[in-house]
Amino acid sequence: MELSKRAKKISASLTLAISAKANKLKAAGEDVVSFGAGEPDFNTPEFICDAAREALEIGFTRYTAASGYEDLKEAIVQKLKRDNNLDFNKDQVIVSNGAKHSLFNTFQAILNPGDEVIIPVPYWLTYPETVKMGGGTPVFLETKENEDFKINIDKLKDMVNENTKALILNSPSNPTGSIYTKEELKAIAKIAVDNEIIVVSDEIYEKIVYDGNKHISIASLNDDIKKLTVVINGVSKAYAMTGWRIGYAAGPKEIIEVMSNIQSHATSNPNSIAQYASNKALRGDHSFMEDRKNKFSERRDYMYENINSINELSCLKPGGAFYIMMNISNVIGKKIDGNTIKDSFSFADNLLEYKKVAVIPGVAFGADNFIRLSYANSMENIKKGLNRTQEFINNLK
Ligand code: PLP
Repeated sequence: MELSKRAKKISASLTLAISAKANKLKAAGEDVVSFGAGEPDFNTPEFICDAAREALEIGFTRYTAASGYEDLKEAIVQKLKRDNNLDFNKDQVIVSNGAKHSLFNTFQAILNPGDEVIIPVPYWLTYPETVKMGGGTPVFLETKENEDFKINIDKLKDMVNENTKALILNSPSNPTGSIYTKEELKAIAKIAVDNEIIVVSDEIYEKIVYDGNKHISIASLNDDIKKLTVVINGVSKAYAMTGWRIGYAAGPKEIIEVMSNIQSHATSNPNSIAQYASNKALRGDHSFMEDRKNKFSERRDYMYENINSINELSCLKPGGAFYIMMNISNVIGKKIDGNTIKDSFSFADNLLEYKKVAVIPGVAFGADNFIRLSYANSMENIKKGLNRTQEFINNLK
C-alpha cells in the first residue's frame, strides 16, 4: 500500500525510545529520576480550575467560533498590549489547540513547495517536522555554545536567499534557555525586513525568565517587522496548563484569516471549556507566577553549579525556560562496561541503563554533543539525579 510521500517524511520522535525504556523500568519498580519533562511540575492554579467548573455550570459547552470565542480573543489582545506592547485587533488573533497547533497552522498558511524556513540549531524538535508538514524545506542555522546558542548575524545573512520564506525565532529557547536582547532582535529584524522574511516568533516561555531578564517580542520593535511577524504563544507553560491545549497566534490579518479557514475544517474550535478557563487565566491575578519562577531559578542555579563541578561536564547558565544543555563532548569515546559512549543517544541510553536517570539526547535538537536536562522537577529529585550522573561519569573509562 502506498502511503503519502509527504507524510512519510515526518520523523517519529527521537525521544520515544528513551521514554519507552524509562517507563518500562518504572513499571518494573525501578526508582527512575527523569530530567525529560517538557512541562512545569506545578498544578494549574485553582482559580483557573474553578473557571472550567463554571464553564460547565453555565453550559459553555457548545461550538464556539472556529478561531476561538470573542471574549478570549479580547483577553489575548489586551495581554499582547499589556505584556508585549503590541497592538492587534481581534481579527488578527487565532486560538488553537496549543501553541504547537498555532505553529502548524502558520506553516500551512504561509508555505509553498520550495520555500525554505531557517531554523536555528539547537531547535525544538517539532520545528523541522511542522515545516515539512507545511510543504516547506527546513534549513538549519548552526549556533555556537560560546555565542550563547544565538543566531550569528553574518551567518544568517549568508543563509538568506530568494527561497527563504521564514525564520523561526524562539526566545526564551527550548532547549537552550537563551534569551535575545533588544539589540540582537533589532539586527535580526533588519535582515527580515530587508529580505521580506516572515518571522515566526515562538514566545511560549516568555513568563519563565530569571535574573531580572525581560522578554521582548521582536514584533514590538517597529511596524515594519510587526507586519512580517507571527507571534506564537499560549497558556501551557506560563499557567501550567499543558493538558488544556490552548495556544494562540497573532499576526497579519491575511495570514490569520487563512489559518482560521484551515482550522475551521481541521479541528473547528479548541475545547470550549479550556477556552473559557484560559480567558480567566489571562485576565486573572498573576502573582502565583513569581513564586514558581523563584523555585525554577533555585533549581537552575543548583543544576548549573553542580554540572560545572563535575569533571568532564559543563553547561551555560540559561536565562529562561526550564532546561539546561549539558555539554558531554569530553566523554564521547569513553566506555562503561565495554560500551562506548558514541554520541548523545548512547550517553542517554547508558545513563538510564546504569544509573536510572532519564535525559533527552541532544541529537533530538540537532546538537549531538549535548544532553537536555529539564529542571521542572523537585529539588530532591534533581539532587538525586545529579549525584547519580556524577557516579556515572566516575565509572567511565
Ligand atoms: N514551543 C516550544 C518551544 C515548546 O517547547 C512547546 C512545548 O514543549 C510548545 C511550543 C508547545 O506548546 P503547547 O503545549 O502550547 O502546544
